[in-house]
Amino acid sequence: MATLLVTGGAGYIGSHTAVALLEAGHRVVSLDNYSNSSPLALERVQRIAGRPLTAVEGDVRDAALLARLFAGHAFDGVIHFAALKAVGESVAQPLAYYENNVGGTLSLLRAMDTAGVRRFVFSSSATVYGAPDLLPITEQAPVRTTNPYGATKAMVEQVLRDLAAADDRWSVVSLRYFNPIGAHPSGEIGEDPNDIPNNLFPFICQVAAGRREQLAVFGDDWPTPDGTGVRDYLHVVDLAAGHLRAFEFVQRHAGMVPVNLGTGRGVSVLQLVRAFEAATGQPIAYRIVGRRPGDIAECWADPTSAERLLGWRAEFGVERACADGWRWQRRNPDGYRTKGGIT
Ligand code: NAD
Ligand code: UDP
Repeated sequence: MATLLVTGGAGYIGSHTAVALLEAGHRVVSLDNYSNSSPLALERVQRIAGRPLTAVEGDVRDAALLARLFAGHAFDGVIHFAALKAVGESVAQPLAYYENNVGGTLSLLRAMDTAGVRRFVFSSSATVYGAPDLLPITEQAPVRTTNPYGATKAMVEQVLRDLAAADDRWSVVSLRYFNPIGAHPSGEIGEDPNDIPNNLFPFICQVAAGRREQLAVFGDDWPTPDGTGVRDYLHVVDLAAGHLRAFEFVQRHAGMVPVNLGTGRGVSVLQLVRAFEAATGQPIAYRIVGRRPGDIAECWADPTSAERLLGWRAEFGVERACADGWRWQRRNPDGYRTKGGIT
C-alpha cells in the first residue's frame, strides 16, 4: 500500500483516478484549489471506493503549503493533474497558463526534490503532437505545439527530461492522453464543465439533456471517411487505470518516458453522435457549421508503448463511455451544482 499525493484530485480525471487508487488499496491525499471542480467530487469518490482520502484545499504554487504537506506525509509518489486546460482561454490568457501549468509544476517538483520524493506521473496531452504527419501517432512523433496550453505541456515534459537526465533518482512517466470521455459507471462522478463545453462529448451530453438545442459539427469537409474530424476517444475509467499502471512503473524504473494513452482507434464526430444515440436512445440534433480554427483532421494513438511498458490497454469502447457519461449527465444535469444530488 502506497501513499500518493494527487494534485487536481477533485477534477474530472483526478477524481476517477482517486477511485482507482483507493480501490487498489493506496492512500490518497488530494491537493486542489477547486478552481475548476467541487469538493463534492471527493465526497463521492470516497463513497464509491468505500474508503476515506485526505482532501487538502490549496494551490500547487504555494511553496509553504507544499513544504507542510511533504513534511506531514511520507509520499511514495505524486500524480500531477492540477492545471488549466482550455485551449482558447490559453490563447487569450497565456500568462495564467504558464504561471499555473509550468510555474505550478516547477514549485511541485522543487518541493518533491527537497523532500526526496522523486516518483512522478504527469498529465500531458496528445495536443503536444500538433497536426501529425503520420497515423497512428507514436511517442517518437515530433512535438510541435500550436497554442499556449499545449506549449505548457511540452515545456513541462522538457523540464522532466532534463531533471531525469541530471539525477537518476527521478522516475517519471508523462502520460499523453488522447480524448478522455465518459464517467464512472456509478453515475456519481463525471465531467462538469463550468461554462459552454469546448469539447465534443460534454456538448453532446448537454444536448441530450436539453441544456443545449443542437450540436454544431465543426466541418464535414475534412479529408476523413465521413468528412468530420476523427479522434481517439477513451473511457475515463480506462484512463484512470492507466495512472495506476504508470505509478507501478515509476516504482520500478528510473528515467523519464512519455507514453500515449489512447485506444488506437479513430472515431469521427458523426460516429460518436450515432454511438451516443444507440447507447442512450437519446436523439442528438446537430447541424454542420464551418471548421473550428486550429482544428486538425485526424488524430489517434499508437498505444503499443502503454501495453509494453505499463501493461495497460483500453478495455472499453465508445458505446460504453456514452452509456456511462449519459448516466452521470442524466442524474446530475447541472453537474455537482445539481440540487439534491443524484437521484
Ligand atoms: P479538471 O479541470 O477537471 O481538473 C484539474 C483540477 O486541477 C481541477 O480540480 C482544478 O480545480 C485543479 N487545479 C487547477 N489549478 C490548480 C492549482 N494551481 N492548484 C491546485 N489545484 C489546481 O481537468 P481534467 O480534465 O481532469 O484534466 C486533468 C489534467 O489532464 C490536466 O493537467 C489537463 O491538462 C490534462 N489533460 C486533460 C485532457 C482532457 O481532455 N480532459 C486531455 C489531455 C490532458
Ligand atoms: N467538435 C465539434 N463540435 C463541438 C466540439 C467539437 O464538431 O462542439 C469536433 C472537433 O472539431 C473535433 C472533435 O469534435 O473534430 C473533437 O473535439 P474536442 O474539442 O472534443 O477534442 P480535440 O479537438 O481537442 O481533440
